[in-house]
Amino acid sequence: MSSDPSMIENGQAAVVECIVQRLRGASRILLCSHERPDGDSLGSELALGMALERLGKQAIMFNADEAPLHYRFLPRVGSLTHTLPGPDDYDLVVVLDCGGVERIGPALTAEKPIINIDHHPSNSGFGDLVWVEERTAAVGVMIARLIGALGVKVTREIATCLMTAILTDTGSFRYMTATRELFEIAGRLAEAGADSAEISRQVFMSQPRHMVQMAGEVINSMHFEYDGKLAWSEITQDILLRNGGEANVPEGLAAQLRNIEGVEVACLLQETAPERCRASLRSAGRFDVGRIAQQLGGGGHHNAAGVTLNVLYPEAREKVLAILREHLSE
Ligand code: 5GP
Ligand code: MN
Repeated sequence: MSSDPSMIENGQAAVVECIVQRLRGASRILLCSHERPDGDSLGSELALGMALERLGKQAIMFNADEAPLHYRFLPRVGSLTHTLPGPDDYDLVVVLDCGGVERIGPALTAEKPIINIDHHPSNSGFGDLVWVEERTAAVGVMIARLIGALGVKVTREIATCLMTAILTDTGSFRYMTATRELFEIAGRLAEAGADSAEISRQVFMSQPRHMVQMAGEVINSMHFEYDGKLAWSEITQDILLRNGGEANVPEGLAAQLRNIEGVEVACLLQETAPERCRASLRSAGRFDVGRIAQQLGGGGHHNAAGVTLNVLYPEAREKVLAILREHLSE
Protein backbone atom coordinates (compact mmCIF):
# COMPACT_ATOMS: atom_id res chain seq x y z
CA MET A 1 0.00 0.00 0.00
CA SER A 2 1.41 3.38 -0.87
CA SER A 3 0.79 6.73 0.73
CA ASP A 4 -1.89 8.76 -0.98
CA PRO A 5 -2.00 12.26 0.51
CA SER A 6 -5.24 13.07 -1.35
CA MET A 7 -7.00 10.58 0.90
CA ILE A 8 -6.26 12.55 4.04
CA GLU A 9 -9.18 14.77 5.03
CA ASN A 10 -8.93 18.41 3.92
CA GLY A 11 -6.64 20.50 6.08
CA GLN A 12 -5.30 17.47 7.93
CA ALA A 13 -2.32 16.62 5.71
CA ALA A 14 -0.01 18.96 7.65
CA VAL A 15 -0.82 17.38 10.99
CA VAL A 16 -0.28 13.91 9.56
CA GLU A 17 3.12 15.04 8.29
CA CYS A 18 3.97 16.31 11.80
CA ILE A 19 2.85 12.98 13.28
CA VAL A 20 5.09 11.13 10.82
CA GLN A 21 8.06 13.30 11.85
CA ARG A 22 7.36 12.79 15.56
CA LEU A 23 7.08 9.03 15.14
CA ARG A 24 10.27 8.89 13.08
CA GLY A 25 12.10 10.91 15.75
CA ALA A 26 11.00 8.75 18.69
CA SER A 27 12.44 5.39 19.69
CA ARG A 28 10.12 4.15 22.44
CA ILE A 29 6.46 4.81 21.79
CA LEU A 30 3.56 4.06 24.11
CA LEU A 31 0.33 3.20 22.27
CA CYS A 32 -2.98 3.42 24.14
CA SER A 33 -6.65 3.04 23.28
CA HIS A 34 -9.87 3.10 25.26
CA GLU A 35 -10.68 0.71 28.09
CA ARG A 36 -13.06 -2.15 27.25
CA PRO A 37 -11.42 -2.23 23.82
CA ASP A 38 -13.32 -2.99 20.63
CA GLY A 39 -12.24 -4.05 17.16
CA ASP A 40 -11.24 -0.55 16.06
CA SER A 41 -9.21 0.30 19.13
CA LEU A 42 -7.44 -3.08 19.23
CA GLY A 43 -6.92 -3.34 15.48
CA SER A 44 -5.56 0.21 15.22
CA GLU A 45 -3.25 -0.19 18.18
CA LEU A 46 -1.81 -3.54 17.09
CA ALA A 47 -1.41 -2.44 13.46
CA LEU A 48 0.40 0.78 14.35
CA GLY A 49 2.52 -1.09 16.90
CA MET A 50 3.64 -3.62 14.29
CA ALA A 51 4.32 -0.87 11.74
CA LEU A 52 6.46 1.05 14.23
CA GLU A 53 8.40 -2.11 15.01
CA ARG A 54 9.12 -2.49 11.32
CA LEU A 55 10.71 0.97 11.53
CA GLY A 56 12.95 -0.32 14.32
CA LYS A 57 10.99 1.38 17.12
CA GLN A 58 10.01 -0.10 20.43
CA ALA A 59 6.22 -0.06 20.64
CA ILE A 60 4.55 -0.60 24.01
CA MET A 61 0.91 -1.50 23.40
CA PHE A 62 -1.21 -0.73 26.44
CA ASN A 63 -4.86 -1.31 27.18
CA ALA A 64 -6.45 -1.12 30.63
CA ASP A 65 -8.54 -4.20 29.88
CA GLU A 66 -7.89 -7.53 28.25
CA ALA A 67 -9.05 -8.11 24.71
CA PRO A 68 -12.49 -9.80 24.62
CA LEU A 69 -12.26 -13.49 23.64
CA HIS A 70 -13.53 -12.92 20.10
CA TYR A 71 -10.54 -10.66 19.39
CA ARG A 72 -7.91 -13.09 20.67
CA PHE A 73 -7.17 -14.24 17.11
CA LEU A 74 -5.66 -10.85 16.28
CA PRO A 75 -1.95 -10.98 15.45
CA ARG A 76 0.20 -9.87 18.37
CA VAL A 77 -2.76 -9.51 20.72
CA GLY A 78 -0.65 -11.37 23.31
CA SER A 79 1.82 -8.44 23.32
CA LEU A 80 -0.74 -6.07 24.82
CA THR A 81 0.22 -4.98 28.30
CA HIS A 82 -2.34 -4.05 30.94
CA THR A 83 0.13 -2.28 33.23
CA LEU A 84 1.01 1.28 32.36
CA PRO A 85 4.81 1.45 31.90
CA GLY A 86 6.91 3.84 33.98
CA PRO A 87 7.65 7.35 32.65
CA ASP A 88 11.26 6.39 31.85
CA ASP A 89 10.12 3.59 29.55
CA TYR A 90 8.79 5.72 26.70
CA ASP A 91 9.26 9.13 25.10
CA LEU A 92 6.08 9.61 23.09
CA VAL A 93 2.43 8.58 23.51
CA VAL A 94 -0.10 7.83 20.76
CA VAL A 95 -3.72 7.64 21.91
CA LEU A 96 -6.08 5.91 19.48
CA ASP A 97 -9.89 5.91 19.18
CA CYS A 98 -10.31 7.78 22.51
CA GLY A 99 -12.63 10.78 22.75
CA GLY A 100 -10.88 11.89 25.95
CA VAL A 101 -7.70 10.93 27.83
CA GLU A 102 -9.82 9.65 30.71
CA ARG A 103 -11.11 6.85 28.50
CA ILE A 104 -7.65 5.24 28.60
CA GLY A 105 -8.37 4.24 32.20
CA PRO A 106 -5.34 5.08 34.36
CA ALA A 107 -4.09 8.68 34.16
CA LEU A 108 -1.06 9.46 31.99
CA THR A 109 0.88 11.42 34.58
CA ALA A 110 4.27 11.40 32.80
CA GLU A 111 4.93 14.62 30.91
CA LYS A 112 5.47 13.17 27.45
CA PRO A 113 4.15 14.50 24.16
CA ILE A 114 0.77 13.03 23.26
CA ILE A 115 -0.55 12.37 19.75
CA ASN A 116 -4.34 12.08 19.64
CA ILE A 117 -5.71 10.11 16.66
CA ASP A 118 -9.48 9.68 16.66
CA HIS A 119 -12.77 9.86 14.76
CA HIS A 120 -15.26 10.75 17.50
CA PRO A 121 -17.05 14.09 17.03
CA SER A 122 -17.02 14.36 20.82
CA ASN A 123 -13.19 14.29 20.95
CA SER A 124 -12.00 16.82 23.52
CA GLY A 125 -8.93 17.83 21.49
CA PHE A 126 -6.43 16.73 24.17
CA GLY A 127 -2.76 16.23 23.37
CA ASP A 128 0.04 18.01 21.52
CA LEU A 129 -0.84 16.83 18.04
CA VAL A 130 -4.50 16.26 17.29
CA TRP A 131 -5.73 14.39 14.22
CA VAL A 132 -9.50 13.88 14.43
CA GLU A 133 -11.57 12.95 11.37
CA GLU A 134 -15.23 12.89 12.32
CA ARG A 135 -16.47 11.50 9.05
CA THR A 136 -13.98 8.64 8.81
CA ALA A 137 -15.44 5.18 9.39
CA ALA A 138 -12.78 3.86 11.75
CA VAL A 139 -9.49 4.91 13.27
CA GLY A 140 -8.17 1.85 11.44
CA VAL A 141 -8.67 3.76 8.17
CA MET A 142 -6.57 6.64 9.48
CA ILE A 143 -3.89 4.19 10.63
CA ALA A 144 -3.86 2.59 7.17
CA ARG A 145 -3.08 6.04 5.73
CA LEU A 146 -0.54 6.81 8.45
CA ILE A 147 1.29 3.54 7.82
CA GLY A 148 1.35 4.47 4.13
CA ALA A 149 2.77 7.90 4.98
CA LEU A 150 5.43 6.22 7.15
CA GLY A 151 6.44 4.16 4.11
CA VAL A 152 5.91 0.85 5.91
CA LYS A 153 4.77 -2.23 3.99
CA VAL A 154 1.38 -3.52 5.07
CA THR A 155 1.99 -7.14 6.05
CA ARG A 156 -0.77 -9.73 6.25
CA GLU A 157 -0.77 -9.27 10.06
CA ILE A 158 -1.14 -5.48 9.84
CA ALA A 159 -3.83 -5.84 7.17
CA THR A 160 -5.76 -8.31 9.35
CA CYS A 161 -5.78 -5.85 12.27
CA LEU A 162 -6.89 -2.94 10.08
CA MET A 163 -9.60 -4.96 8.33
CA THR A 164 -10.93 -5.99 11.75
CA ALA A 165 -11.06 -2.33 12.78
CA ILE A 166 -12.99 -1.47 9.62
CA LEU A 167 -15.41 -4.42 9.74
CA THR A 168 -16.34 -3.79 13.35
CA ASP A 169 -16.74 0.00 13.19
CA THR A 170 -18.74 -0.04 9.95
CA GLY A 171 -21.11 -2.89 10.89
CA SER A 172 -19.48 -4.84 8.05
CA PHE A 173 -19.88 -1.94 5.56
CA ARG A 174 -23.54 -1.34 6.38
CA TYR A 175 -23.34 2.29 7.52
CA MET A 176 -23.15 5.60 5.69
CA THR A 177 -19.41 5.62 6.35
CA ALA A 178 -18.97 2.90 3.72
CA THR A 179 -17.71 5.16 0.95
CA ARG A 180 -15.83 4.40 -2.25
CA GLU A 181 -12.62 5.38 -0.47
CA LEU A 182 -13.34 2.91 2.33
CA PHE A 183 -13.86 0.07 -0.16
CA GLU A 184 -10.61 1.05 -1.86
CA ILE A 185 -8.70 0.83 1.39
CA ALA A 186 -10.42 -2.46 2.27
CA GLY A 187 -9.51 -3.74 -1.20
CA ARG A 188 -5.87 -2.94 -0.61
CA LEU A 189 -5.98 -4.65 2.78
CA ALA A 190 -7.50 -7.74 1.14
CA GLU A 191 -4.69 -7.63 -1.42
CA ALA A 192 -2.20 -7.54 1.45
CA GLY A 193 -3.72 -10.74 2.82
CA ALA A 194 -6.57 -9.74 5.14
CA ASP A 195 -9.29 -12.40 5.00
CA SER A 196 -12.55 -10.64 5.82
CA ALA A 197 -14.58 -13.86 5.87
CA GLU A 198 -12.25 -15.43 8.42
CA ILE A 199 -12.20 -12.24 10.51
CA SER A 200 -16.02 -12.14 10.43
CA ARG A 201 -16.17 -15.79 11.48
CA GLN A 202 -13.94 -15.04 14.46
CA VAL A 203 -15.59 -11.80 15.53
CA PHE A 204 -19.27 -12.23 14.67
CA MET A 205 -19.87 -15.94 14.11
CA SER A 206 -18.17 -17.63 17.07
CA GLN A 207 -20.24 -16.39 19.99
CA PRO A 208 -20.17 -18.60 23.08
CA ARG A 209 -23.53 -20.31 23.59
CA HIS A 210 -24.12 -18.65 26.97
CA MET A 211 -23.65 -15.21 25.38
CA VAL A 212 -26.35 -15.91 22.82
CA GLN A 213 -28.60 -17.23 25.58
CA MET A 214 -28.01 -14.02 27.48
CA ALA A 215 -28.78 -12.01 24.36
CA GLY A 216 -32.04 -13.97 24.17
CA GLU A 217 -32.95 -12.88 27.67
CA VAL A 218 -32.09 -9.28 26.91
CA ILE A 219 -34.18 -9.30 23.74
CA ASN A 220 -37.09 -11.07 25.43
CA SER A 221 -37.29 -8.43 28.11
CA MET A 222 -36.96 -5.33 25.93
CA HIS A 223 -39.26 -2.38 26.49
CA PHE A 224 -40.79 -0.11 23.89
CA GLU A 225 -41.89 3.47 24.44
CA TYR A 226 -43.06 6.36 22.27
CA ASP A 227 -44.91 4.16 19.77
CA GLY A 228 -41.92 1.89 19.43
CA LYS A 229 -39.46 4.67 18.65
CA LEU A 230 -37.51 3.98 21.84
CA ALA A 231 -36.35 0.43 22.57
CA TRP A 232 -34.38 -0.41 25.67
CA SER A 233 -33.26 -3.41 27.63
CA GLU A 234 -30.84 -4.23 30.39
CA ILE A 235 -28.18 -6.65 31.56
CA THR A 236 -28.36 -6.64 35.33
CA GLN A 237 -25.89 -8.48 37.57
CA ASP A 238 -28.60 -11.15 38.02
CA ILE A 239 -28.86 -11.77 34.29
CA LEU A 240 -25.07 -11.80 33.99
CA LEU A 241 -24.62 -14.34 36.81
CA ARG A 242 -27.34 -16.58 35.38
CA ASN A 243 -25.49 -16.63 32.07
CA GLY A 244 -21.87 -17.32 32.87
CA GLY A 245 -20.97 -14.07 34.59
CA GLU A 246 -18.78 -12.68 31.82
CA ALA A 247 -18.71 -8.89 31.74
CA ASN A 248 -18.45 -8.70 27.94
CA VAL A 249 -21.62 -7.91 26.07
CA PRO A 250 -22.31 -9.93 22.91
CA GLU A 251 -21.01 -8.08 19.84
CA GLY A 252 -23.79 -6.10 18.21
CA LEU A 253 -26.45 -6.59 20.89
CA ALA A 254 -27.23 -2.87 21.26
CA ALA A 255 -27.49 -2.58 17.48
CA GLN A 256 -29.96 -5.48 17.43
CA LEU A 257 -32.38 -3.42 19.51
CA ARG A 258 -32.03 -0.56 17.05
CA ASN A 259 -32.43 -2.83 14.01
CA ILE A 260 -36.14 -3.21 14.69
CA GLU A 261 -38.68 -1.60 12.40
CA GLY A 262 -39.81 1.76 13.75
CA VAL A 263 -37.08 2.05 16.39
CA GLU A 264 -35.30 5.42 16.27
CA VAL A 265 -33.20 5.10 19.42
CA ALA A 266 -32.08 1.98 21.25
CA CYS A 267 -30.45 1.77 24.63
CA LEU A 268 -28.76 -1.22 26.23
CA LEU A 269 -28.02 -0.72 29.90
CA GLN A 270 -25.53 -2.86 31.74
CA GLU A 271 -25.01 -3.02 35.49
CA THR A 272 -21.25 -3.61 35.39
CA ALA A 273 -20.76 -3.26 39.18
CA PRO A 274 -23.05 -2.31 42.08
CA GLU A 275 -22.30 1.38 41.47
CA ARG A 276 -21.43 1.33 37.82
CA CYS A 277 -23.67 1.36 34.79
CA ARG A 278 -22.75 1.32 31.09
CA ALA A 279 -25.23 2.55 28.57
CA SER A 280 -24.82 1.81 24.88
CA LEU A 281 -26.92 4.04 22.65
CA ARG A 282 -27.76 3.44 19.01
CA SER A 283 -29.69 5.62 16.59
CA ALA A 284 -31.40 4.80 13.31
CA GLY A 285 -30.31 8.24 12.04
CA ARG A 286 -32.78 10.87 13.17
CA PHE A 287 -31.38 11.37 16.67
CA ASP A 288 -27.75 12.21 17.45
CA VAL A 289 -27.00 9.78 20.27
CA GLY A 290 -23.41 11.09 20.45
CA ARG A 291 -24.84 14.40 21.67
CA ILE A 292 -27.23 12.65 24.06
CA ALA A 293 -24.34 10.61 25.51
CA GLN A 294 -22.33 13.82 25.90
CA GLN A 295 -25.15 15.32 27.97
CA LEU A 296 -24.70 12.37 30.32
CA GLY A 297 -20.91 12.75 30.44
CA GLY A 298 -20.06 10.19 27.74
CA GLY A 299 -19.67 10.54 23.99
CA GLY A 300 -19.44 8.80 20.65
CA HIS A 301 -20.86 9.14 17.17
CA HIS A 302 -24.19 10.27 15.71
CA ASN A 303 -25.46 6.69 15.44
CA ALA A 304 -23.45 4.89 18.16
CA ALA A 305 -22.43 6.25 21.51
CA GLY A 306 -21.99 5.32 25.13
CA VAL A 307 -21.54 6.47 28.67
CA THR A 308 -20.50 5.07 32.03
CA LEU A 309 -22.29 6.31 35.14
CA ASN A 310 -20.81 5.67 38.57
CA VAL A 311 -24.01 5.61 40.61
CA LEU A 312 -26.32 2.87 41.87
CA TYR A 313 -27.80 0.99 38.92
CA PRO A 314 -31.50 1.93 39.32
CA GLU A 315 -30.55 5.59 39.59
CA ALA A 316 -28.29 5.39 36.52
CA ARG A 317 -31.01 3.66 34.52
CA GLU A 318 -33.58 6.32 35.35
CA LYS A 319 -31.12 9.08 34.50
CA VAL A 320 -30.37 7.65 31.07
CA LEU A 321 -34.03 6.88 30.31
CA ALA A 322 -35.14 10.34 31.45
CA ILE A 323 -32.81 12.03 28.94
CA LEU A 324 -33.89 9.69 26.16
CA ARG A 325 -37.56 10.34 26.91
CA GLU A 326 -36.90 14.07 26.84
CA HIS A 327 -35.45 13.81 23.34
CA LEU A 328 -38.16 11.50 22.07
CA SER A 329 -40.94 13.70 23.31
CA GLU A 330 -39.59 16.73 21.44
P1 5GP B 1 -20.35 1.03 22.66
O1 5GP B 1 -21.79 1.23 22.94
O2 5GP B 1 -20.12 0.05 21.57
O3 5GP B 1 -19.55 0.78 23.89
O4 5GP B 1 -19.81 2.43 22.11
C1 5GP B 1 -20.33 3.02 20.97
C2 5GP B 1 -19.49 4.20 20.57
O5 5GP B 1 -19.52 5.21 21.56
C3 5GP B 1 -18.03 3.87 20.37
O6 5GP B 1 -17.57 4.61 19.27
C4 5GP B 1 -17.37 4.32 21.63
O7 5GP B 1 -16.05 4.68 21.41
C5 5GP B 1 -18.23 5.49 22.07
N1 5GP B 1 -18.32 5.51 23.53
C6 5GP B 1 -18.79 4.51 24.31
N2 5GP B 1 -18.73 4.83 25.61
C7 5GP B 1 -18.19 6.06 25.69
C8 5GP B 1 -17.85 6.93 26.79
O8 5GP B 1 -18.04 6.62 27.96
N3 5GP B 1 -17.29 8.12 26.45
C9 5GP B 1 -17.06 8.48 25.15
N4 5GP B 1 -16.49 9.66 24.90
N5 5GP B 1 -17.38 7.69 24.11
C10 5GP B 1 -17.93 6.49 24.35
MN1 MN C 1 -13.64 3.64 16.51
